[in-house]
Amino acid sequence: MATKRDYYEVLGLSREASEAEIKRSYRKLAREHHPDANPGDPGAEERFKALTEAYEVLSNPQARRAYDTYGHQVPRAGAGSPGGDPFGGFQDIFEAFFGDRSFGSFFGGAGTRAPSRGSDVEVEVDVELREAAFGSERKVEVQVVKECSFCDGVGGVESRSCATCGGEGMVRMVRESLIGQMVSTQTCPTCRGRGSIITVECKNCRGSGRISEVVAREIQVPAGIEDGMRIRVPGEGHAGDNGASSGDMYVKVRVKEDPELMRDGDDLIHRLRINFVEAALGTEAEVPTLEGATGVRVEPGTQPGAALTLRGEGMPRLRRRGRGDLKVVVDVMVPTRLSSEQRELLRRFEAASGEETYNGGADSFFDRLRSIFR
Ligand SMILES: [Zn+2]
Ligand SMILES: [Zn+2]
Repeated sequence: MATKRDYYEVLGLSREASEAEIKRSYRKLAREHHPDANPGDPGAEERFKALTEAYEVLSNPQARRAYDTYGHQVPRAGAGSPGGDPFGGFQDIFEAFFGDRSFGSFFGGAGTRAPSRGSDVEVEVDVELREAAFGSERKVEVQVVKECSFCDGVGGVESRSCATCGGEGMVRMVRESLIGQMVSTQTCPTCRGRGSIITVECKNCRGSGRISEVVAREIQVPAGIEDGMRIRVPGEGHAGDNGASSGDMYVKVRVKEDPELMRDGDDLIHRLRINFVEAALGTEAEVPTLEGATGVRVEPGTQPGAALTLRGEGMPRLRRRGRGDLKVVVDVMVPTRLSSEQRELLRRFEAASGEETYNGGADSFFDRLRSIFR
């Protein structure tokens, strides 16, 4: 274990320092070295703990006398004390000293509660496929808790200073321990840290300082958004405590299914139904796209499950350039109700057919399906 630094040295004080000087020096240094004030500095916690330990001992007259006499080799307390550590375990001191251990409540100045950020709020919005494709503006309404504008969130229009804490918002609790009295600072239970007591309640919020209201916001649905994605609207959630920032609003976008265009990531799939004669002889057909109908050529001998790809006719890629494809999958209808005349024609067709009639259509049906869904 490294040699412990002298407590006076840690606090930058002489051995003759007064109680007030000890306190002043500690407050100043603790602020400077608090881990919350030094994010990313791994040494801050150690320095801060050393400061607090030094202060804990020197601010206590009995412990200070013992330290002045024995230095760090303070004699262990009597056999009756389990563990025998005269300082009762450092962590205990740390927690006792800081009460709820919140930086904000201790250093926050005269009587403010630790500010806490407001909660987020989520709302759902349904959009059509075409709105998801090209983006749209939507108005959403959401119920949020806001700070009462009438009393600025205080809850009252008149107040007086809290007598329990003298307007400080914090009270010092003294308890006895092995090293004598131990002082901890806690949020004042009477005013709950506010430092003041409301004498005339705000009528607008009935003293709560906050009101629930429906707010309407215009949001921009970005082109290419997928079902279930959330859009964040910063600062539009519930109000925070004691001036802390509000939460965020999240708009969850539900993209409705389109009866004609099925979405597969950035691609779209359309099922084109043609009859077996059209499949055999070829045909011109009309297919829907995001922008409207367009004509496609179905070649003679097109097989069931064959796909025609219309490049760039799919969904715009979210926050990227370009678009996916539209895949037109051919579904071939086979007649189910034939007249005797039609049956006769088909029999004559069959009699005139041979193996070569079907040549070229022998690739796997499943391979064709696989080419549709990548
Ligand atoms: Zn108080
Ligand atoms: Zn109010």
